[in-house]
Amino acid sequence: RELPGDPRTDTIPRQVLHACYTKVSPSADVDNPQLVAWSESVAELLDLDSKEFERPDFPLIFSGASPLVGGLPYAQCYGGHQFGMWAGQLGDGRAVTLGELLNSRGQRWELQLKGSGKTPYSRFADGLAVLRSSIREFLCSEAMHSLGIPTTRALCLVTTGKYVTRDMFYDGNPKEEPGAIVCRVAQSFLRFGSYQLHASRGKEDLKIVRVLADYTIRHHFPHIDKMSKSESLSFQTGEEGSSVVDLTSNKYAAWAVEVAERTASLVASWQGVGFTHGVLNTDNMSVLGLTIDYGPFGFLDAFDPSYTPNTTDLPGRRYCFANQPDIGLWNVAQFTATLSAANLINDEEANYAMERYGTKFMDEYQSIMTHKLGLPKYNKQLISKLLNNMAVDKVDYTNFFRLLSNIKADPNIPEDQLLVPLKSALLDIGKERKEAWISWVKSYIQELAASGIPDEQRKAAMNSVNPKFILRNYLCQSAIDLAEQGDFGEVRRLLKVMERPYDDQLGMEKYARLPPAWAYRPGVCMLSCSS
Ligand code: AMP
Ligand code: MG
Ligand code: MG
Repeated sequence: RELPGDPRTDTIPRQVLHACYTKVSPSADVDNPQLVAWSESVAELLDLDSKEFERPDFPLIFSGASPLVGGLPYAQCYGGHQFGMWAGQLGDGRAVTLGELLNSRGQRWELQLKGSGKTPYSRFADGLAVLRSSIREFLCSEAMHSLGIPTTRALCLVTTGKYVTRDMFYDGNPKEEPGAIVCRVAQSFLRFGSYQLHASRGKEDLKIVRVLADYTIRHHFPHIDKMSKSESLSFQTGEEGSSVVDLTSNKYAAWAVEVAERTASLVASWQGVGFTHGVLNTDNMSVLGLTIDYGPFGFLDAFDPSYTPNTTDLPGRRYCFANQPDIGLWNVAQFTATLSAANLINDEEANYAMERYGTKFMDEYQSIMTHKLGLPKYNKQLISKLLNNMAVDKVDYTNFFRLLSNIKADPNIPEDQLLVPLKSALLDIGKERKEAWISWVKSYIQELAASGIPDEQRKAAMNSVNPKFILRNYLCQSAIDLAEQGDFGEVRRLLKVMERPYDDQLGMEKYARLPPAWAYRPGVCMLSCSS
């Protein structure tokens, strides 16, 4: 059996036992790599001066061709459930962490190159990434952050100057595409699957689950470490009629609950902006509650609960928009099962964490929808009627909510004027559907009038939660088409627009437009995992 050797060359695919990572360096072939785009706000997090991006060696460092001084590159070993089936060891097959950076505020940030060559976890694949999918990951990381949704970040995107072969699903022919590398940034890239893998490997490796859990709590959940050490703190949680678990007696239980709650509020925030992840495997579930691994994701255009952007997800639609809350729970259940298997939590604590997922999700989701409608309190009937109408008439999710803030709380508006503020979102509804919408707007206006919130105040509040600009798949595609021709301008413009999704940004209306007809071709609104 081959032994791990030199980290600069050892990429032999193998089962890496009794270890959480392998030392391995970036190894992608590069030829005159170019900087496509970078995020100023991530640079700030890292105390990087904007001058750094002009350094001639910048693309060399961030394509992995030159080492990052002080770095200690490695690839993580993890497993996961893919589409509900245990897949065994997966790991960073094309990502290499360069190291951690401690910023002036005492925050620790991990820098990771994605697409930088093979690792022991590459299995049958090439360890590379194409420009198309790298642009999507780079832009969406930053777009999600600006929407206020927890996510891994992206510092920069470089081309490698080399071509990569990919199978494009829609014509069956392989295609040469430009290679690229994103530098992802997060406080940690640990996933549910990072713990699952060791628990799956039998008794001896259960202690690794504990060591990794201890590490995670100490570094990323320090409040839990402190809480469980201080005996004077009595922190009991529990709803009426539900079990009450004392979270101070077991830090792992407190941690499981926090992971469950963070996951619940993450998924609720996705539902709020119409984001569909597309591949919610347990190896793509961050233990910090971040959106992680941007592959065949998609924002809803027309409201369709069964929308999945991932062609691999057809026809089952396990990861479709409406399923995400249930899948989040399913994934949390795998995570708590792992902690149970390692004897870190008992069954009662595991059940409690799952129960908290449900409660937290409902609380957050109801609150988000209430704010989207500008209501003073949750109104189940009004919201489900609206979503039902939107689904029937395939109304654009983003533009509808943005327009909704133009409705005035005036019960005397004549019936034939009621839909005027929503006109551009309801252009396609037939005469027979008008009634349903008028009836909904009437009840909505009644609620608004009863709330007593002044129109202008409500409008400002609604516009701060209903984005005008989201990263629609067709917008990505336009930027990709130009970038593949060597023009990176659109990637940079799109980044700027998506950095202020809630601002009106006059002159930028074209970025709020509905998808054009060409956007319905395969590969734009529906994507394969080929990346
Ligand atoms: P994903 O579906 O993107 O979460 O990826 C699942 C697994 O496949 C992870 O272990 C990835 O690191 C690995 N993987 C995906 N693409 C590649 C690639 N081109 N080369 C090597 N490993 C890959
Ligand atoms: Mg992944
Ligand atoms: Mg991926």
